[in-house]
Amino acid sequence: MEKLIGMSKKVIEVNLSSQSFSIFNVPDADIKMYLGGKGLGLKLIYDRISPGIDTLGEENIIAFMTGALLGTGVSCSSRFTAVTKTPLTGIMASSSCGGPFGESLKTAGWDGILIKGKSKNPVYLVVSSDGVEFKDAKDLWGKDAMRAQEMLGNNEGMLVIGQAGENLVRVANIASGHRFLGRAGLGAVMGSKNLKAIMAVGKAYKIVPKDKQAFDKLKKRALKYINANPFTSNDYRKYGTPSHLFHSNKYGSLPVHNFKKGMHKDGYKISGEEIRAKHDTKHHACKHCTILCGKKGTFDGKQRVVPEYETLALLGANIGIFDPVRIAKWNELCGIYGMDTISVGNIIAWVMEATEKGLIESDLKFGNPEGVDKIITDMALTKGLGKDMAFGVKSLSEKYGGKDFAIQVKGLEWSGYDPRGAFGQGLSYAVANRGACHLSASLLFLENNAGLLKSNTPRAKAGFVKFFEDMFNGINSISICVFTSSAFTLEPPLSKYTPNLMLGFLMQYFSKIAIPTTDISIYPKLWSSVTGIKLSKAEFLRAGARIHVLERYMNTREGISRKDDTLPERFLNEGRDSDPKKTTVPLHKMLDTYYKVRGFDKNGIPTPKTMQKLNIAYG
Ligand code: SF4
Repeated sequence: MEKLIGMSKKVIEVNLSSQSFSIFNVPDADIKMYLGGKGLGLKLIYDRISPGIDTLGEENIIAFMTGALLGTGVSCSSRFTAVTKTPLTGIMASSSCGGPFGESLKTAGWDGILIKGKSKNPVYLVVSSDGVEFKDAKDLWGKDAMRAQEMLGNNEGMLVIGQAGENLVRVANIASGHRFLGRAGLGAVMGSKNLKAIMAVGKAYKIVPKDKQAFDKLKKRALKYINANPFTSNDYRKYGTPSHLFHSNKYGSLPVHNFKKGMHKDGYKISGEEIRAKHDTKHHACKHCTILCGKKGTFDGKQRVVPEYETLALLGANIGIFDPVRIAKWNELCGIYGMDTISVGNIIAWVMEATEKGLIESDLKFGNPEGVDKIITDMALTKGLGKDMAFGVKSLSEKYGGKDFAIQVKGLEWSGYDPRGAFGQGLSYAVANRGACHLSASLLFLENNAGLLKSNTPRAKAGFVKFFEDMFNGINSISICVFTSSAFTLEPPLSKYTPNLMLGFLMQYFSKIAIPTTDISIYPKLWSSVTGIKLSKAEFLRAGARIHVLERYMNTREGISRKDDTLPERFLNEGRDSDPKKTTVPLHKMLDTYYKVRGFDKNGIPTPKTMQKLNIAYG
C-alpha cells in the first residue's frame, strides 16, 4: 500500500450528464484557508455555481469531502462532509457523517468528489484510485437504503439513498452503513441527479502524518482529554446522545407537543439511563471513535439502533410518545426509506397541531402512535397527505396556514432543544447558516447543564455564538467529530484553576477575555502534524470564520438577510405550558450585537471590510 501524507490535494469532478470525470489539484493556499472537509467543499462550489440555480437541476453540485484527520486513526476522526445547495431551504447546507464512506474515499486517494449534471437513467458510481466508473443502477432504483447497500455487497465505502431521495422528498438523507448525512434534504439532490449510490474502493493508500512524532503525542493527548472529561467518558460513552434527555426535561428544553411544553412527566422513559437499563445497549459507534456515543440495543426482541437524542425528542416527545420501542422502530423505518428523523418528527407534530386546529384533516393525534408508521411510509413514497408533508413544515404552513406554529428557520425544521430556556441557543438557531440547526453553535451546555452562562439573559451570547460557529466550522473541516469539543475545550487554564462561580462571572461579564483564553489548540496542532502546514489557533479560528462568512455570503446571494434570521412565533411570543414565567426569547436584543461581532451590516450582510479581512474573493 502506498503512503499518502496528510491530504492528497486532489479532487475528482464528475459530470453525470456526459458521464465523464476530471481530476484537479487544490492549490496549497486554499488548503490552508479552508482546511479541507466542509470548508474546502464550500469554496469549490462557490467557485463553480451562480446564485439562483435550480437546486434540483443539472447545474447544482453536491460535494463529498474528506479532511486531513480522516484515515489517521486519531480519536473520532472518521467524519466526512457533504455540501450542496439544497431544495429544502434553497440555500447552502452541509452535513457531517461518521459512516465508512469517508475513509474509503480518502484512502482511494481523494480529498473530495464534486458531482454535477444529471444522468439520463439511474446510475451508481464506483470511485477508486484510478478514477470513476459509471454503472447502471436500474436494479437498485426503487430499493430502500438498507436493501440497496446489501445488493451492493455491504461494501464499507458505500453511500446510498432510499426511496425518499429518489422521490425528491425534501427531507431525504443519505446513508453510509448505519450512519447518515441526515439534515437538510441532501438525499433529494442525489435523487434529482438519478444517482442512487457511490461506492468508494479504498485502501489504495495508507494515510500517514507528516510529523509522526508530534502526531503520536497529540493523539495520546486527545484520548487523555476524552477519557478525563465526564461528558465524553461517562455520559456519552454510557448512554449516548440520549444522555441529554434528562437535562432537557429538567431545564424545560425538551420539545413536547410541537414545542408547546418544555417538559413531560414521562420524559424519563426515553432517557439514556432508562434505555440502557431496559434495552441491553451496546456500543455501535463510528470507526476510530473513543467517545462511543452510538448505541444499539434490543427493542421488541430485535437488535436495532438506539435512537439519538434528537430522534427521541422530535419523533418521540414532540409527538407525545414516550415509548422507546416505538421510536426505535420509527427511527429504523426512516433509515430504511432514507429520511431525516428530526424533520420527520417536526412535520408529524405540525400536522397533529394543524389537525387539532382544524386546518388539515388527518387521524394523527398527539400521544397516539396509530398512523405514524403509515404516514412515514406515505411521506417517503409521496402518497396522500404524505406528498405535501414531503416538502417540509414551511411549505405545509404556506399551503394550509399555521405559520405561527411551524417550527423552522429558513425552511429547516428545528432540532431538539427549546430555546426559551437558553437564549444563546435561540440566537444560534436564528442565525445558523443552514436553518434551525443545533450544530452551528452549541451554547446549551454552557447555559443549562454547566450553568456557566446565565440562560435567561442576552448578555455575552453573541460573542459565544460567533466563537462556536468559528470553532465548529474548523472542526467540520478537519474531519473530527464535533463532540470532541466538550473534552478539548474544557481544559483551558482559565477553567482548570478557576472556581465555577468565578468562571461563570468571567464568562458572563468579561467574555472578551474569557473567549480568547479558551485553549482549543489541539485542533490546529493535530491538523499541522498531519499536513505539515503550520496553523496557529488564531489561524484555525480565522479559517472557521472564513468558512462561516463565505456560506453566509452565498446565502445572501440567494436572498437571505435579517428578515430570515428569526425564530418561530412560538418562541418569540408564546411561553411554554411548563414555564410559569412564560419566558420567550428576546432575539432582537441579541441580533444587532451578533451582526456587529460577526462583521455584518444591520441587514445581516457581510460588509466589504469583513470579506476583505477574511480574504474572500467576491463581487
Ligand atoms: S462521538 Fe458519536 S458521532 Fe462522534 S464519532 Fe463517536 S460515535 Fe460518531
